[in-house]
Amino acid sequence: MKKIFFIVIFFSISFLLFAQSRTNVGIEKAEGPAYIFRQADPHSKEIALTFDDGPNDPYTTEILDILKKYNAKATFFVVGKNVLKYPQTVKRMYLEGHAIGNHTYGHPDLIVKGGLFKMRKEMIETEEIIQDVTGQKPFLFRPPYGSGGNIEAKNRGYYIIEWSVSAKNGAKDPDPDTIIKNVLLNTRGGSVILCHDGLRLKNFDRSNMVKALPAIILYLQSEGYKFVTVPELFNLNPPTPEKNFKVNGLRRGKPRLK
Ligand SMILES: [Zn+2]
Repeated sequence: MKKIFFIVIFFSISFLLFAQSRTNVGIEKAEGPAYIFRQADPHSKEIALTFDDGPNDPYTTEILDILKKYNAKATFFVVGKNVLKYPQTVKRMYLEGHAIGNHTYGHPDLIVKGGLFKMRKEMIETEEIIQDVTGQKPFLFRPPYGSGGNIEAKNRGYYIIEWSVSAKNGAKDPDPDTIIKNVLLNTRGGSVILCHDGLRLKNFDRSNMVKALPAIILYLQSEGYKFVTVPELFNLNPPTPEKNFKVNGLRRGKPRLK
């Protein structure tokens, strides 16, 4: 009897483990949920540079000049309020083949000051501003401070883009050599590199980031790497209309939350 009991328990546990692993197929990747991306295939020769918190001129424009000069593509996670300040810079990003992601309207901490309403409002306002400037709805989202709003973003058809390498220039720029080291010592194929061209809503000095960028690009290109956008790196396409707006939309100034 005791033996049968153990056999039943053994098969129950095996079945549960099997069932659990089956439900994870297609939902979970090794690195987390399938809508969160931070590192592509390390054997690939492609890399994605990402810039957060802009546009913040003159630095963002200087970065665009460098990217153009070296034929590199990047992804900019823009803050809606800053887009209203420098719409032409965002239009240029789009026209020159860079990707543009949503980094909220006012760069709040969505964990601390979050709440569903705030999150949706921030996301949708920025979505509309980017669409006004480029004609395209963004489908990449990076939460301020790296966390918060993931499920809400996913429900609105966004992919959440984290990073696997950081220039470590969030609060301020270290000297250019340190930025170069921070990036080059950690980058491999498929890396998503976090850099900042702005600082929240401030006009902030990013001249060291600008100074470091050519060396980063030139070195990695000499190693055979190509700089591509985040959608190119992960082969992401804009979501279908059904997938988008799963949650009722909010128009600017006209909240329709139930
Ligand atoms: Zn940010």
